[in-house]
Amino acid sequence: MKVTEHIENAKGKTLFSFEIIPPQKGKSIQELYDNIDPLMEFNPPFIDVTTSREEYIYIDKGNGLLDKKLTRMRPGTLGICASIKHKYNVDTVPHLLCGGFTQEETEYMLVDCQYLGINNVMALRGDAMKDEQSFVPKAGGNHYAVDLVRQIKDLNCGKYLHEVMDIDNKADFCIGVAGYPEKHLESPSLQSDLKRLKEKVDAGADYVVTQMFFDNSKYFAFVEKAREMGITIPIIPGIKPIAVQRHLQVLPQIFRIDLPEDLIDAVDKCKNNAEIKQVGVEWAIQQSLELKAAGVPFLHYYSMGKSENIRQIASQVF
Ligand code: FAD
Repeated sequence: MKVTEHIENAKGKTLFSFEIIPPQKGKSIQELYDNIDPLMEFNPPFIDVTTSREEYIYIDKGNGLLDKKLTRMRPGTLGICASIKHKYNVDTVPHLLCGGFTQEETEYMLVDCQYLGINNVMALRGDAMKDEQSFVPKAGGNHYAVDLVRQIKDLNCGKYLHEVMDIDNKADFCIGVAGYPEKHLESPSLQSDLKRLKEKVDAGADYVVTQMFFDNSKYFAFVEKAREMGITIPIIPGIKPIAVQRHLQVLPQIFRIDLPEDLIDAVDKCKNNAEIKQVGVEWAIQQSLELKAAGVPFLHYYSMGKSENIRQIASQVF
């Protein structure tokens, strides 16, 4: 079922969903299952599976030391989507990136999605690689997420890259896109970023999932501005619980988001990681309860492959 159909069927009830990351090459999928299992009692109608452009591999140098080497792509997104869909009878949403893919490769992936019965996709640009000054699309690839949305929309109309086909199995993808309550880091202003979001919606996006935020007022203001601009599709809030001290530095640095002073103070007072985790869980519970009371369609959690804190939050919210 499409994400938008899940929202319609819920008739105003807030639903639970989460995002996972494929295991690193060579790691077992069992660890992933072990982290998904405890979350299934909260009945997620869909699970997102990310795509990573960068992954480090470790090569045995033969002298007992390992060499760290940057590879180009972490495999597994579509395979994980298929296995989870089958194992848990749940919809899965693969993240498709512009970066690292030609349009042709993207088309192949979308055709595979169709064969697998996957009809939701998240259309994203992806970030610049570590060795790039700014984002560079692959030759023959989509530049911005809006271009990817257009390509998917074309496919929904039977328009493949090189031909228009009279097909009996028409694609009918429900398309999610990213939104940024505190603006995307490259964008000159929130208003300008919202205009870009509107372009994605006009191109055919069906719903938005937001970047993580820790102050709900940022989300509410974002939704209000989006509505003023004529963006009427569902805007699903993305929630991430703080789990370690390092998050205080890296989350604002990587995502250009603000952390509320109260949250920083609470983490600073913690004596160990267990206490920090608890602060993160409690903060996310408060955020979730307020968002749920405001009638958001889904609460979407960034699990980063670990479920214990998400389970604690969900057990208090759902
Ligand atoms: P776009 O919508 O293309 O926007 C990128 C930037 O370009 C913005 O600053 C925008 O304002 C600007 N822009 C847009 N269109 C134009 C235009 N026509 N001309 C000039 N400027 C323009 N990354 C991953 O690598 N893998 C994932 O699985 C993943 N999942 C994510 C899930 C969510 C919910 C979110 C919020 C982000 C995710 N990301 C993921 C991160 C995302 O790839 C980055 O934030 C990326 O930098 C931007 O992606 P986008 O789709 O928002 O890009």
